[in-house]
Amino acid sequence: MAKTKRSFDIEISETRCRSCAVCWEVCAPKVLSWKPPLNKAIVKDLAACTGCRLCEWLCPDWAIVVRPVVLESSEALT
Ligand code: SF4
Ligand code: SF4
Repeated sequence: MAKTKRSFDIEISETRCRSCAVCWEVCAPKVLSWKPPLNKAIVKDLAACTGCRLCEWLCPDWAIVVRPVVLESSEALT
């Protein structure tokens, strides 16, 4: 049985972000936040990200990309 531990990398384009608030409002685990004074989206708690990609899909300006990162993978022979 293979065991894979996943994490996620979140890339936010400050240039594309228009501070609409959609991403941090839809993120249930509160991974995302905003940075004054322009209130551009930022990552606040990356470890809490479930990789649901709602922020990526719902961002109207295509400012967010969520990528899976494999931290460790083990293959046990059964
Ligand atoms: S949804 Fe997109 S445009 Fe809106 S605040 Fe988040 S990153 Fe910025
Ligand atoms: S992928 Fe899901 S959990 Fe992760 S930051 Fe986006 S909305 Fe939040």
